[in-house]
Amino acid sequence: MNTLAIDIGGTKLAAALINAQHEVLQRMEIPNPSNAMPEALKQALAELVEPYQGKAQRVAIASTGIIDKGILTALNPDNLGGLNQFPLQATVENLTGLPCVVLNDAQAAAWAEYCYLSTQFKHITFITVSTGVGGGIVVNGELLTGPRAFAGHIGHIQADPNGPRCGCGRVGCIEAIASGRAIAAGALQDLEGKNAREIFAEAQSGHSQAQQLVARSAQAICQLIANLKALLDTECIVLGGSVGLAQGYRQQVEQHLSTLPAAFHVPIYSAHYQHDAGLMGAALWSEHYAV
Ligand SMILES: [Zn+2]
Repeated sequence: MNTLAIDIGGTKLAAALINAQHEVLQRMEIPNPSNAMPEALKQALAELVEPYQGKAQRVAIASTGIIDKGILTALNPDNLGGLNQFPLQATVENLTGLPCVVLNDAQAAAWAEYCYLSTQFKHITFITVSTGVGGGIVVNGELLTGPRAFAGHIGHIQADPNGPRCGCGRVGCIEAIASGRAIAAGALQDLEGKNAREIFAEAQSGHSQAQQLVARSAQAICQLIANLKALLDTECIVLGGSVGLAQGYRQQVEQHLSTLPAAFHVPIYSAHYQHDAGLMGAALWSEHYAV
């Protein structure tokens, strides 16, 4: 059985055929229409699935946002504009005529990473540190999605009650301190206007303010991991996302974690499925639930 896997991100839409051996075949990507209107997304999805007609028996979607009962919503509705309350599952089922499952992209990535590690662990937490901070939690071999699909939105755990306001409306969320966007927003003087990637490069070449911005992010993620360990007794952390996978970042988080009491220590791995995590996770999850 082949699964058509789709990954809906903020800037691009990706699709791939995933076969029974979990090989990624016939991958393609198109830009996500930036005008955030339902008709534009529907048209883009039609373009994306068209080459796969007749080749798959089911569809699995990983998407940014909160995916509650097949409908795309957002913690901050302004982020999605006209796409808030978009009926993602029904739209793709109508376009393809196939059964379809939909879940949040970080939850999907967590499931992919869990499947990769499942011979070693039954309790893992995936953390993505990228433009934002997201996550997915697997407890006793089951993906925790929650009754409103909100489980794992760990970027919105508070890190600092006096910190900056987060896009979700809360003050001092992890995301408002540790994300790529937050790293860039904290840049002053000669770093002002640089993006997170450029600030990482400056940090690598010894720029002290850049090093402080990266260290502040890594410290916030370390505290998040300690909180997750206390809350879930998670057996391992998998770190992904462009910041999470940046050179030296995981080692910084590990260094901070090693200074905490031993009860909070937990092994940290870099994500195995990098850019295909959403696609692979959605496909594996649809198999698990056998739609
Ligand atoms: Zn928040």
